Amino acid sequence: MIAGIDLGTTNSLIGVYESGFPTLLADSEGKRLIPSVVFYPENGAPLVGREGLRMQALHPERTVASVKRLIGRRFGEDETKDLAGPKGSPVTIPINGEDLYPVEVSAEILKKLKAIAEDRLGTAVDRAVITVPAYFNDAQRAATRKAGELAGFAVERILSEPTAAALAYGLDRLQENARVAVYDLGGGTFDLSILRLDNGVFQVLSTHGDTRLGGDDLDEAIAGLLLREAEITTLSTEITPEMKVRLKEAARAAKELLSNEESTFVRLPFMKGSKSHEISLTRAQVEKVCEPIIAKTRAHCLRALEDAGLKAEELDQIILVGGSTRMPLVQRLAAEIFGKQPNLSQHPDEAVALGAVLQGAILEGNLQNVALLDVTPLSLGIETFGGLMNVIIPRNTTIPAKAGEMFTNAVAGQSGMKIIVLQGERELATDNWTLGSFEIPFPPSPKGAARVGVQFSIDADGILQVLARDTSTRSEKIVEIQSAVEVSDEAVEAMLAGSLEHAFEDMDARVFTEARLKAEEMLPAVEAALAQLGSELLESEVLEIQGKSSEVQAALESKETVRLKQALAALDNATQTLATKLLEKAMG
Ligand code: AMP
Repeated sequence: MIAGIDLGTTNSLIGVYESGFPTLLADSEGKRLIPSVVFYPENGAPLVGREGLRMQALHPERTVASVKRLIGRRFGEDETKDLAGPKGSPVTIPINGEDLYPVEVSAEILKKLKAIAEDRLGTAVDRAVITVPAYFNDAQRAATRKAGELAGFAVERILSEPTAAALAYGLDRLQENARVAVYDLGGGTFDLSILRLDNGVFQVLSTHGDTRLGGDDLDEAIAGLLLREAEITTLSTEITPEMKVRLKEAARAAKELLSNEESTFVRLPFMKGSKSHEISLTRAQVEKVCEPIIAKTRAHCLRALEDAGLKAEELDQIILVGGSTRMPLVQRLAAEIFGKQPNLSQHPDEAVALGAVLQGAILEGNLQNVALLDVTPLSLGIETFGGLMNVIIPRNTTIPAKAGEMFTNAVAGQSGMKIIVLQGERELATDNWTLGSFEIPFPPSPKGAARVGVQFSIDADGILQVLARDTSTRSEKIVEIQSAVEVSDEAVEAMLAGSLEHAFEDMDARVFTEARLKAEEMLPAVEAALAQLGSELLESEVLEIQGKSSEVQAALESKETVRLKQALAALDNATQTLATKLLEKAMG
């Protein structure tokens, strides 16, 4: 039996396909949404889920929540700025004097889900499909798989959340070529994916989002509102961690209530000394502070549409996924962005888990096979001579995918090539993320003589394999980009924003680098040719070539792209006769 698991930032769910139906399983308290919260007592086993959540208010310092934000990440990234640790190392969370890895914490959540399922079903449940946000990168997918394995599951598939949701909404029964937008606003992440139904197969046309946008941010904003309304003006340093947790809990409860009610009362006991506060809150007040946060989803929706080459009117359905889409404000905004009422037929917080269950059933052969195709969230490539990014698999390519290119040596006598695997949208290698690197040796060869084939393949789980082969000796090396330890990653969103923001400088940097490489090749070649054949030219010609060469040198130093390109063209022009003579000589 293959379980389907939605491993969420705030809540997680597990289900199985039983007697022809996908069923989500409830814990001993009859609840299906299991809080993704882990409490570590001083002694004994961690408490997970609702029990963990209860302990969070008492011991926030020994509780881990929203660990999905940290999985597959490193110290020094935006996501991990609240944690102290050596920049660039895999992130750890200090609890009870021990440093925990996010995969270990996620594994505790998965163990809890496994126990719930085994308890309900009375049998072992040791295979699973686990979902991740559409634009989780390699490191995050691999870490999620690892967490599943640590929890004792054979992980049969890492599935993207929008594709799971589409299955749960039964969209495989739509007409041929139907286009669907999946708007997913959960506790900690937002993403918008556009899918197309093609011959009964879902294809993800594009995906955009923000790993730092979700209900948690709304809770934070509402907590601020509560403080203002209660006129609690203490400095934030005087608000203890326990008070903060209480405040956010109260904010969240009020927010969820206000999805159905117009107003509510929030009681905040012991917020300041022993004084307790009672604050009345209306939906309108909450919407006012939440609106700017939710409005941030609009740009992602528009970019995903643009990437898919579609207009909003061309969409057949909008489906809403994630607990935060229960807010009327979110539903209104989604309807407004896409000019169409969203489909609200499924529970938004259960759709992804149901889809994972259905995918498990498909893998087991219990359901007719609907293949789910995903796309690469960011471009993948290698660093080439001069420090440029050479894209091998572009962003938004449907996976599984395979692509390759032939490379050569840029320097004579070189006896190997360093393959640096990059992910990102920037022109310069240093602005992209290095996923890993390795050396492929070859016999020392003249410039441009070596032939190294590089092939990238991404499997259905989004895990990347890089193969490099020296065609002369047929020796090859294969590197699997798997573990979070090898992989450096930043927020995908920051990368996309950066590529837009720096588009012009980046293009300029690429053009300049290409011109610089040409100049560095040309200057010594011209000098050598002059030494050899200068005597056969008129003195004025020699002077002109020398002048143009110095101008190229000066342009190189000035780092001005246009000037360098012009100088190179002029040098090219001035050396026509010289080049002809050189050629004649070579031809004998
Ligand atoms: P998910 O990550 O999909 O489990 O979504 C969790 C988020 O949904 C949390 O931020 C919850 O506060 C939020 N949420 C759940 N139910 C509601 C509701 N009725 N109204 C507004 N937000 C909700």
